[in-house]
Amino acid sequence: MLYTCILTNSHTKNFAMSTLDSKIPSGPLADKWTKHKNEIDLVNPANKRNIDVIVVGTGLAGSSAAATLAELGYNVKTFCYQDSPRRAHSIAAQGGINAAKNYQGDGDSAYRLFYDTVKGGDYRSREANVHRLAEVSTNIIDQCVAQGVPFAREYGGLLDNRSFGGVLVSRTFYAKGQTGQQLLLGAYSAMNRQINRGKIHSFNRHEMLDVVKVDGKARGIIARNLITGEIERHSAHAVVLASGGYGNVFFLSTNAMGSNVTASWRAHRRGAYFANPCYTQIHPTCIPVSGDHQSKLTLMSESLRNDGRIWVPKKKEDALAIREGRLKPTQLSEEDRDYYLERRYPAFGNLVPRDVASRAAKECCDAGFGVNKTGEAVYLDFATAIKRYGKEKALTEKISNPTDAQIYKMGAAVIENKYGNLFQMYEKIVDQNPYKTPMMIYPAVHYTMGGLWVDYNLQTTVEGLYATGEANFSDHGANRLGASALMQGLADGYFVLPYTIGDYLSKDIRTGKIPTDTKEFDQAEKDVKDRIDKLMSGSGERSVDYYHKTLGKIMWNKCGMSRNEKDLKDAIDEIAALREDFWKNVNVPGTKDTLNQELEKAGRVADFLELGELFAKDALDRNESCGGHFREESVELDGPQKGEALRDDKNFKYVSAWEYKGAPKEALLHKEELIFENIELKTRSYK
Ligand SMILES: Cc1cc2nc3c(=O)[nH]c(=O)nc-3n(C[C@H](O)[C@H](O)[C@H](O)COP(=O)(O)OP(=O)(O)OC[C@H]3O[C@@H](n4cnc5c(N)ncnc54)[C@H](O)[C@@H]3O)c2cc1C
Repeated sequence: MLYTCILTNSHTKNFAMSTLDSKIPSGPLADKWTKHKNEIDLVNPANKRNIDVIVVGTGLAGSSAAATLAELGYNVKTFCYQDSPRRAHSIAAQGGINAAKNYQGDGDSAYRLFYDTVKGGDYRSREANVHRLAEVSTNIIDQCVAQGVPFAREYGGLLDNRSFGGVLVSRTFYAKGQTGQQLLLGAYSAMNRQINRGKIHSFNRHEMLDVVKVDGKARGIIARNLITGEIERHSAHAVVLASGGYGNVFFLSTNAMGSNVTASWRAHRRGAYFANPCYTQIHPTCIPVSGDHQSKLTLMSESLRNDGRIWVPKKKEDALAIREGRLKPTQLSEEDRDYYLERRYPAFGNLVPRDVASRAAKECCDAGFGVNKTGEAVYLDFATAIKRYGKEKALTEKISNPTDAQIYKMGAAVIENKYGNLFQMYEKIVDQNPYKTPMMIYPAVHYTMGGLWVDYNLQTTVEGLYATGEANFSDHGANRLGASALMQGLADGYFVLPYTIGDYLSKDIRTGKIPTDTKEFDQAEKDVKDRIDKLMSGSGERSVDYYHKTLGKIMWNKCGMSRNEKDLKDAIDEIAALREDFWKNVNVPGTKDTLNQELEKAGRVADFLELGELFAKDALDRNESCGGHFREESVELDGPQKGEALRDDKNFKYVSAWEYKGAPKEALLHKEELIFENIELKTRSYK
């Protein structure tokens, strides 16, 4: 499908026209993917042996793609900056992975998963992509079970499910609180089989620093060996970026410390459009910030909202007494508590989508009801669930007249069985026992829905350059539902890319090896080396972390949970000034020819300093509230939705795809108009 797009640049008043082709197949929604697979070109097995593919990233998106492509017969090179592919950030995923298996018989279907995802994303995602995701979701579970992933099982032997926010069914498969780690072990084992066969060459402790284009096509990368500092050239017929999300632009986030935007940003500078950079997910259930010394925030999985009830004191004086340590939460009676999600959203209660829950927590705290020392925390309370499970257990164990202590003990054991590792983590960090006193939680940056723009085939605007997993702008619109990132990463890697990339590579069967001794590789390598030299030559006094923290504060204060025109304009100017200062005054110790983590960080922060400005510019352009992007100027003023975020479908029903033109303020906006033919656009209500 070809869209005519208006190019505008709201901050610099540039206007232009262009086209953006999302290549959505024709035909009925439910048939598109099957029809597409039947019609695209294939590469025969003998020819696959002559084709090379680079996969940057070995998280769930990258390792699933690499293992599948190698199994198909392509020669694959994988890159990651960790010491092992299995240390990718994906191992942090706790809660689970969605699939429309309907094991519970609770009315689930591929259509319902599709519908929930489009609605959850506040109608800012592509229908065709999301439907495909829902269709293949069931295959993912089968694939992972075959690999030996130990999903939790019910008494009867079927895989167990739990619920995540924004849905009315239980479709989340899980392996205790370690789902990402178990899934990655499965994908990594599949990768290892191919490494053993010589079909995957795995480059660990390597950082991709540029994409090399030859005749407009991605034909390789420049990477730095992080141990020796050596700059290397690697060629291929196609390059896949599965390099994860960029939440660390905020400095503090639940992402792994190393998560960064460099691979995507380098591709952006080489012509890949960056889509919806301002769409960030701020997760409602994280351990609150405790001080300036912190460099990392910790997630308490959304799965906890299956059993935890969120509340703040009803009276401000009680909240103050709690903050001052004069009152304990357990001393507050039921009548004095405000279970505000259950009150405001009776249909979904504590399981409203993340953006809704996060904003509600912020509103409570801003209004003076926060419960920790800084006033930026609400409670997540398991007392009711412990009692409920305890009573149920007493019944099934045939214990008549159980004492309160017996009920508590049995109920706590059930909770421990479900969430034990999360409770342990909480206690270690906060030094409070969450079985006995409610957890304190507050929203934190967690996931980025924005990323490289891709068409239906997952190809970016650079031919032969693909993006998968969190690195692409993906299927989640303006807000991702819980447990759907793992689903998307694995759908992309196991079931979508292996088909669509074949269509592209079928034109390359006679191309032969891509040489690296060409002017394009010379130039790209020179650019990378010059940049490293520039970073190392600074004689300034400020550390890389100083710049990262300062950027993070601007992002959180001015582009965080709620945004307005003035703050966003200020942020754009402040980030530009900070970036200028960085290049004059940053101090990178050590040398470039050895392991130098400050140099690694400096390169990543330099890219964050560009992305941050584009982020604010994108948020400024989008003068509507949608999903995780809340504009203070766009709020429902009347009616049953009063006070809720106000979407503007008339003016903003598009994907923003930004083209690099030098400084971020020069970036050009391309709009992919979103077309809804199968879902009626509605006000997103969870009441
Ligand atoms: C604490 C936490 C819990 C979560 N829980 C869940 C959950 O329960 N369910 C769910 O669906 N989602 C969850 N998510 C989200 C989900 O984990 C991620 O979105 C997903 O794992 C991202 O996978 P990925 O493969 O796209 O990227 P990642 O796993 O981030 O992998 C990125 C890879 O790219 C490599 N890389 C990056 N840049 C470069 C470079 N320049 N050169 C070379 N290599 C590079 C890295 O080395 C790494 O191998 C959670 C996220 C967090 C932070």
